[in-house]
Amino acid sequence: MAEPTFYIADIQLDTRQRTLTIEWGDGHRSGYPLGYLRRVCPCALCRDIRRQREEAGGLNLLNGPAATATDELTDLQPVGLYAMQPVWGDGHNAGIYSFEYLRAVCPCAECGRRWRDEGTLPEP
Ligand SMILES: [Zn+2]
Ligand SMILES: [Zn+2]
Repeated sequence: MAEPTFYIADIQLDTRQRTLTIEWGDGHRSGYPLGYLRRVCPCALCRDIRRQREEAGGLNLLNGPAATATDELTDLQPVGLYAMQPVWGDGHNAGIYSFEYLRAVCPCAECGRRWRDEGTLPEP
C-alpha cells in the first residue's frame, strides 16, 4: 500500500491556548494540545513508558495523568523536510515527530477514531 506523503502548508503555535495547529497540504487541519503532543512523543523512552502503562492496565491517552511530562514547549526545530523536534520545558527533546506520524496521531474526530478504537497509537 502506497503511503501518501504529507506536507505542511502552515504551522501555528498558540502559546496561550497551548495548541499546535498544522494545516496540511491536502487541506486537513490538525489541532494538537501541547500536553497531548508530549504524551504521544515517539522517542524510544516514551514509547517504553507507554508500553508499560498499557500492560499495567490500559492506555488512557487523552485523560490520563501526564505523569512527569510537561506540556511546556520551549522550542520547535525542523528536522529536514520531513519531521520536527520539539524541545520540552523539562529538557526532553528525544522525540522526532515525522509529518507522517503527526498526521497519524491527529486527534480530530475523524482521524482519532482509528487509533482510539484500537486503544493504541500508530507506530512512529
Ligand atoms: Zn520522548
Ligand atoms: Zn485529523
